[in-house]
Amino acid sequence: MPRTDLVLADPRLAPAVEALGRDLVKSAVVAAQQRAREGLIAPTGVVDAVLAALPAGASSLQPVLNATGVVVHTNLGRAPLSAAAVAAVVDAAGCTDVEFDLATGKRARRGRGVLAALAAAVPDAGDVHVVNNNAAALLLCAMVLAPGREIVISRGELVEIGDGFRIPELLASTGARLREVGTTNRTHLRDYADAIGPDTGFVLRVHPSNFRVTGFTGAPGAAELAGLGVPLVVDIGSGLLAPHPLLPDEPDAASALRAGAAVVTASGDKLLGGPQAGLLLGDADVVHRLRRHPAARALRVDKLTLAALEATLAGPPTPVARALGADVADLRARASALARDLVARGVDAEAVPGGAAVGGGGAPGVELPSAAVGLPERYAAALRGGRPPVVGRVERGRCLLDLRTVDPADDDRLREAVLRCG
Ligand SMILES: *Cc1c(COP(=O)(O)O)cnc(C)c1O
Repeated sequence: MPRTDLVLADPRLAPAVEALGRDLVKSAVVAAQQRAREGLIAPTGVVDAVLAALPAGASSLQPVLNATGVVVHTNLGRAPLSAAAVAAVVDAAGCTDVEFDLATGKRARRGRGVLAALAAAVPDAGDVHVVNNNAAALLLCAMVLAPGREIVISRGELVEIGDGFRIPELLASTGARLREVGTTNRTHLRDYADAIGPDTGFVLRVHPSNFRVTGFTGAPGAAELAGLGVPLVVDIGSGLLAPHPLLPDEPDAASALRAGAAVVTASGDKLLGGPQAGLLLGDADVVHRLRRHPAARALRVDKLTLAALEATLAGPPTPVARALGADVADLRARASALARDLVARGVDAEAVPGGAAVGGGGAPGVELPSAAVGLPERYAAALRGGRPPVVGRVERGRCLLDLRTVDPADDDRLREAVLRCG
């Protein structure tokens, strides 16, 4: 029977010891030795048995290389955090002064750092609050501003977010009633005005963030809606705090507030590039009521989210921002270099132009010019099954690895992953 310390020193177990810690691997070794003593496995098979028994990582969530060309991919966890945000999460993971003032030794306001950073990033907001996600932000608005009352919304903005979840049903679940106005393609200011009455809680504008209606369309601007005499809530979806030069049609928080919105809601993990969170920015008195509602406690974010969001707001540019801003000439050069290396190693690869997308998080219909490495289609499944798994997209019988969503620092890992599938 190989000794426990010798098995633990086997180089094949080194990655597991690094990722999972020595204690966990050691307990797997002891269990495998016991099975060998019972004659269930050969003593020479102990290391293999340990490898088979261990999880791939400390959690069942596997890190994935996103080569889909979809920058904010909901099924792949939306925005990847910046290195600074990851470091902030690690620092906050133990005991931290999240609700404690180290100077006075007394209780302090939870999340004060991130709230200050968000308020500084959007000076047009009277106050700000952060909840679990944008759906939670909308829920809180409905509970605070329209309990048992009506939310006026255009028929063109009755959005299904994904996985069968619909914003109108989310709002109605609070007991608020939806008062639909206008048509799918056109809604006029007078449609809203006619529907407003003593039962109105607020007017809601929802950004159609995952579809586009074109042709004979029309809707009043936020400034016109804000002039109707009832609070206007604007769900901008994507989380842009200010206008983005590359995405001129994507709404942003500062513009909506300047137009007169009482509250703007947004996601933290779409174009903002941070952790899952719901941002609430708006009039100080309304945000105060949102924060004091009993349900706010059920929707609050944990210290890891607060840490990641504050680090995201402080910069440096997020992976999402870098993917959006990547120069297509650089992407082409990377695709050519990768394809050349792969061809030299006998792989049927070529550099091809591609069209990347922002994703479910915003800018529907906007195609970002990109560059990809094209491979035979069978690579798609093989790459997904690798370590790390690589997710590309299949187009016209080829597996495309789109480089707009791959960090240039990961090009070597991408190449090695392809070669392992050969
Ligand atoms: C994504 C999205 C939501 C849902 O946001 P979550 O942060 O996923 O809860 C709501 N509204 C719009 C317009 C969106 O784009």
